[in-house]
Amino acid sequence: MKEKNTEKKSHKVSSTDSKPSKKHIYGSTRSATTRLDSLPERKKRAAAVIKLLNKRYEEPETLLHARSPWELLVATVLAAQCTDARVNMITPALFERFPNVGDFANAEQEEVEHYVKSTGFYHNKAKNIIAAAKVITEKFNGEVPHTMQELVALPGLGRKTANCVLCGAFGINEGIAVDTHVKRISLRLGLTIAEDPVAIEKDLLEVFDKSEWGNVNHKMVWFGRHVCTARNPLCQECELATLCPFIKEEGKNTAQEK
Ligand code: SF4
Repeated sequence: MKEKNTEKKSHKVSSTDSKPSKKHIYGSTRSATTRLDSLPERKKRAAAVIKLLNKRYEEPETLLHARSPWELLVATVLAAQCTDARVNMITPALFERFPNVGDFANAEQEEVEHYVKSTGFYHNKAKNIIAAAKVITEKFNGEVPHTMQELVALPGLGRKTANCVLCGAFGINEGIAVDTHVKRISLRLGLTIAEDPVAIEKDLLEVFDKSEWGNVNHKMVWFGRHVCTARNPLCQECELATLCPFIKEEGKNTAQEK
């Protein structure tokens, strides 16, 4: 799952601070809704959305391959601006060369870069992974910390990565990781009108039950790949169509426009 480096912003941003633009919901070809429905309405819609997504993806396939919290942390960092498939291709060799946190902490940056080069932004990724490994080794006795506060204090880690690690490695629902799929689908479904990932997360935390927070990212990512795609969402096949303001506001099915 990809992330832009917008994670370090304050979590105090509200969706009401964000001005919706013409293109932020539907890419460059769609006009945006500018009005957020009432909280009860959004909560009701969110409950229906997650119910349908849970039905569609009862046992969604794991996206990033990892055998430990540390490996998940590394894979999630590498997945920024890269596909999960690409990350899964390179991590076996990386983890064979550097089997644990201490090995990364003592690694030469150039060597780590060599292994992660194809994921892009490899200088920063290698630098941050090594720096995080040093902190985890020195401060946490080699164990990945379990709290949002400690995770976001690690070099190069933001809320999205921290959310993925907390939920994926420890089963802790502390927040909702907002990536490009979660952003697009949440905007289309009228669950937010914000553009900033931190503000989007804040809106989503208000409307989804806490027990579902981990599912929201995981299942929206699959839904965004299979159905609610960026350019040609398959609205005719979508079980969320009756809930979706995109359909209501556009007045026609995007699938018919192809
Ligand atoms: S109806 Fe279309 S835009 Fe709305 S959630 Fe479904 S696929 Fe996405």
